[in-house]
Amino acid sequence: MASQSKTKPAKEVKAAKAVGAPRKFKMYINGEFVEGHRRAFFPVYDPSTEQVIAEVPDADEQDVNRAVAAARAAFDSGPWPQTTAQDRGRILFRLAERVRKEAASLANLECRNSGKPITEAEYDIADVATCFEYYGGMATKVLGQVNPVPDNALSLSLREPIGVAAQIIPWNFPLLMAAWKLAPAIAAGCTCVLKPAEQTPLTVLEFASYLTDAGLPPGVVNIVTGFGETVGAPLVRHPDVDKVAFTGSGEVGKAIVKAAADTLKRVTLELGGKSPNIFFADADFEAAIDGALFGVFVNQGEVCSAGSRILVEKKIYPKFVEAMSAKAKTIRLGPPLERETKMGPLVSKDQFDRVRAYQEIGKKEAKTAAGGGRLASQSKGYYVEPTIFYDVDNSARIAREEIFGPVATVIPFDSEANAIKIANDTQFGLAAAVWSRDIFKAFRVVKALRAGIVWVNHMQPTYVEAPWGGYKQSGFGRELGPNGIDEYLETKQVHINLNEQPIGWY
Ligand code: NAP
Ligand code: MG
Repeated sequence: MASQSKTKPAKEVKAAKAVGAPRKFKMYINGEFVEGHRRAFFPVYDPSTEQVIAEVPDADEQDVNRAVAAARAAFDSGPWPQTTAQDRGRILFRLAERVRKEAASLANLECRNSGKPITEAEYDIADVATCFEYYGGMATKVLGQVNPVPDNALSLSLREPIGVAAQIIPWNFPLLMAAWKLAPAIAAGCTCVLKPAEQTPLTVLEFASYLTDAGLPPGVVNIVTGFGETVGAPLVRHPDVDKVAFTGSGEVGKAIVKAAADTLKRVTLELGGKSPNIFFADADFEAAIDGALFGVFVNQGEVCSAGSRILVEKKIYPKFVEAMSAKAKTIRLGPPLERETKMGPLVSKDQFDRVRAYQEIGKKEAKTAAGGGRLASQSKGYYVEPTIFYDVDNSARIAREEIFGPVATVIPFDSEANAIKIANDTQFGLAAAVWSRDIFKAFRVVKALRAGIVWVNHMQPTYVEAPWGGYKQSGFGRELGPNGIDEYLETKQVHINLNEQPIGWY
């Protein structure tokens, strides 16, 4: 989900300082920066140099218990339950303002830790601020309802916070994913324990240092760093957690649903996909080529909504593959802090190996039009060439499995019905796009696509004002927009009898 809001990017960012000793971070529990009880740390890397740039606490179940206890106490007592919607809104506005003030250094840190180009990191950080602002405004717009019951009574629906939310996020948009989860939760009056991805915990830890200044009481937001098995899993099964919000792989999503079932927690899942980007012959050709490239290669393809299945009408197919491949070869890969860079390294060695493996699978399953290997000019860093496979059959592994890297599969189609059939022939349903100058055709396809987000003549712009989430195995629940706060609210029905004598049988 490449965010491309209109907000201006932060100003010039200084180049990385010479690598010194790794910076030691602490995690954030009950309003304090703390180490884990074992005092263990794990290394965090710069994927463009493969060097360790930081160390963060390697937390375990005992630390999770401490964070959940803090979040539980903050929800059940203390000042938070008495905080007004106006107060919560103001806290969120202050956080937005602080993020804007620190945008340059946050973007720099995000860029170094994740490998994404600095210009994209700047967009992400601007979107983080916008997200806090949006939910700051929404805090005072959570409305209940009067129900027209057929009696002399006043029937009300009240919206109340769900309680303690466990929030588990991935590494592709580190601080932005945290914002998508924390902002609506705070607006709703919930308390949170957030686990960043092991690869990219730095910006959210930096962000934690703004919380007290913004007026957030201790325990309302807790950040616990560590691994899926040792921090994520205990969080999900913890009986004092009321809700789990997860973004990541389908495999972990399924494990979370099973683990959350024991205590019937509310669960929302955002699980990525294999999104079709459909090009009809009547589309604007130049815009289409750019849209195909941006749709799949933005953020190195490490995007849950990546348009990784490029469906092209046969009439323009050869020309399309040729033009797209020619342009892909000109995409500038390089150090993410350089402003001209359009694609940086992948986030980690694991992700690099995984994507490289898919490149090899692709070479056997289809024809290669561009890329197919690692970037030869860089000896260090997890750089992978933007890769385009064509004449791909939709049943191939590279067309069915989420690769989460810069690997595009181009598939020809011969009719509108055929395009729809191929597009929907997937276990996923996160996003899709359709390109055509014929609005009747475009809208027919929009209606037929089984996906939570559909773009027309564009792919990837994401706005905090509009709902985000998937159909089918791309998950359930919605983030962003008014739907985003609903996922942190319960509904309480209140019946107020207005008869002096209550109705009854006795
Ligand atoms: P992942 O394993 O699903 O990780 C996402 C988050 O869940 C991380 O914070 C992870 O902890 C945590 N986690 C792992 N196991 C858990 C468990 N049993 N209980 C609770 N939390 C757990 O994703 P990944 O390993 O980072 O990436 C693998 C693949 O997932 C990618 O190649 C891609 O296909 C997909 N993915 C999708 C998205 C998306 O936006 N939809 C984002 C990232 C990845 P750790 O920090 O220890 O991993
Ligand atoms: Mg993982």
